[in-house]
Amino acid sequence: MKTRTRFAPSPTGNVHIGNMRAAIYNWLFARHTGGDFLLRVEDTDRERSTPEAIQTLLDAMAWLKLDVDEEPLYQSSRMDAHLAAAETLLSKGLAYKEDKGGTGQGECVVFKMPGRDVSFDDGIKGTLSKKAENMQDFVIVRSNGTPVFHLANVLDDLEQGVTHVIRGDDHIENTYRHIALYEALGADVPIFAHLPMIVNAQGKPYSKRDGDAFVGDFRDKGFLGDALFNYLALLGWSPGDDREVMTRAEMIEAFTLERCQSSAAQVDPRKLTWMNGEYMLKLPLDEFEAMAFEALDQAGIDAEPEYAERVFGLIRERVKTVADIVPMTGYFFTEDFAFDEKAVRKKLQKDGVADLLKKLKDLFLSLETFDEASTDQALHAFIEESGLGFGAVMAPIRIAVCGVQSGPEMFPMLATLGRARVVERIDRAIERFLK
Ligand code: GLU
Repeated sequence: MKTRTRFAPSPTGNVHIGNMRAAIYNWLFARHTGGDFLLRVEDTDRERSTPEAIQTLLDAMAWLKLDVDEEPLYQSSRMDAHLAAAETLLSKGLAYKEDKGGTGQGECVVFKMPGRDVSFDDGIKGTLSKKAENMQDFVIVRSNGTPVFHLANVLDDLEQGVTHVIRGDDHIENTYRHIALYEALGADVPIFAHLPMIVNAQGKPYSKRDGDAFVGDFRDKGFLGDALFNYLALLGWSPGDDREVMTRAEMIEAFTLERCQSSAAQVDPRKLTWMNGEYMLKLPLDEFEAMAFEALDQAGIDAEPEYAERVFGLIRERVKTVADIVPMTGYFFTEDFAFDEKAVRKKLQKDGVADLLKKLKDLFLSLETFDEASTDQALHAFIEESGLGFGAVMAPIRIAVCGVQSGPEMFPMLATLGRARVVERIDRAIERFLK
């Protein structure tokens, strides 16, 4: 039988990474087994499920390249079917009407639990069971006539022919009820697999208080969809070996529920940043450059293309996220760049530095050509003759021309800036900080 999985979010305007990880696992499972991956929008909360909230959800899925095999099913369109099923359960004596609290506001429909223990083989957690005495009858249609989540969720999974329900383990308690509903409806029970929670460093459910928690946050901060996908795939699953950066094809090939962990998975933002850096490195050059140009453009930097491409080449290997590009390259494009005050105080405003910078400026002016090899050769010769340490010479130059102490390699950086900018900046640094 063909497998069918689904992502069944309730749109709220944000997509939590925990929900998106469930979507990713459903997608990987369907792709691994050659089945279908479906979307069901659980939009019965009409206040929260606005068109914008639904669009946010679709955008997040598109960004992570979670393609679906059928048109999405909107739960709100299925109300009649939900209510009809409740009627059937009533007519069979498997549900009853009750005026909860006797408020006179009307009767709700209550599902009668079968009075026996419920147990199932969870695809991740093994056998789970609950005693009859610990389960109570529950409402399936509210007194205002609207179907409750449990009923809608089960009926829509049946409608969509879902064979495997992969969702967060916060739904385990619901699953016992859902199984009882499937049985009352005379339907086959799908396979359930409950994913462990995503937690913070304290082992508590990871929320926006702990850091970025929504898919959109990561996109806004310059992460790549493919990197976030890979990171979330590994947050509770492993391929069974020590591979971490994996292609989609590799993840699809290796994905099984057996290799999903049953205990909580802890978010590690540093690992995500590292992984994103790996993906940045793997980007084809033209894609990297397109992103970099767009980042400059958004920052209002109008860069000459050939020069900008040289600059991108200098920082490419150190960029962890797209958001690094502008801060890392700003001083290449403006004379109005910021100085690290502490570095200025410690490395520039020292005895002898003004003299040193003047000598270096003359040295640069005396070179026949000003490029990577000539600056390298000249500076090394200068260091040798002067008896000054490497750092004592390099740090003041870098701070004078870049404003900061770290950055791309010195000689390619100088060559890219070019003699005119370098010499002018040295003059200005002397003027501004050493007079
Ligand atoms: N709308 C529910 C949620 O987002 C669905 C859970 C499920 O069955 O996957 O938690």
